[in-house]
Amino acid sequence: MSRKFFVGGNWKLNGDKKSLGELMDTMNAAKVDPNVEVVCGAPSIYLDFVRSKLDAKFGVAAQNCYKVAKGAFTGEISPVMIKDCGVNWVILGHSERRHVFGESDELIGQKTAHALESGLSTKVIADNVKDWSKVVLAYEPVWAIGTGKTASPQQAQEVHDKLRGWLKANVSEAVASSVRIIYGGSVTGATCKELASQKDVDGFLVGGASLKPEIIEIINAKL
Ligand code: PGA
Repeated sequence: MSRKFFVGGNWKLNGDKKSLGELMDTMNAAKVDPNVEVVCGAPSIYLDFVRSKLDAKFGVAAQNCYKVAKGAFTGEISPVMIKDCGVNWVILGHSERRHVFGESDELIGQKTAHALESGLSTKVIADNVKDWSKVVLAYEPVWAIGTGKTASPQQAQEVHDKLRGWLKANVSEAVASSVRIIYGGSVTGATCKELASQKDVDGFLVGGASLKPEIIEIINAKL
C-alpha cells in the first residue's frame, strides 16, 4: 500500500501578516514535489488570511478546536468555523496542548471524534476514531521538540514500526498499512532526507523550520 508523503507545518504561536505573507510568497513560488501532501498549521486568527493567500495546492490546518459546534465557550473555535474558512485540517493532541494547557487524553479524544464527525481531517494521538482515512498520526518525542535534537532515523523507524504494529493488532491490517505516520521534532533540511528514507516514516510535522524557506527542502525530501 503506497502512502502519500505528508508534510505538516506547525507555525504555533509565531509570525504576523507580514512575515507569514512572505513565507507564503516563497512557498507559492517554489517548485515542490507534486507527490507530497503539504498542510500548514496556522494560528486561528490568520486562518482566513492564510487560506486566501496560500496556493490551493497546499492545505491549511487549524492548530486546535473545541469538542462541540457552538455555545458558551469563550475563546474557543469549532470545526464548523474552521471549515467555514475553507480549512480542512486540524492538529489535535499536540504535546504542547497537553503540557502547557493541561489537555487530557479524554478531552483530546472528544475533540477528535467531533472534528472527524464535522468533516475535518486531523492529526491525533488518541482513540475515538471511526474513519482512519481522515487521520495522520504524528510521533513526536517531547525531548526533540524545539530542542535541535532529532531522533535518529533508526529510532524513528523503530517507533513508527511499533505504532503500525499497534494499529494492526488493535484496529485492522488495512488501517495499519494505509495510515500515514509522520515524525516531528527538530526536523530540518539537513536531517529530513535520511529520516524520509525510512520505510515507515511517511512524512513530517515541522515546527521551527516550517517558518523558514527551508520548509521547501523538507517538502522535497524524497526527490
Ligand atoms: P519543532 O516542532 O520542529 O520545532 O521541533 C515540531 C512540533 O512541535 O510539531
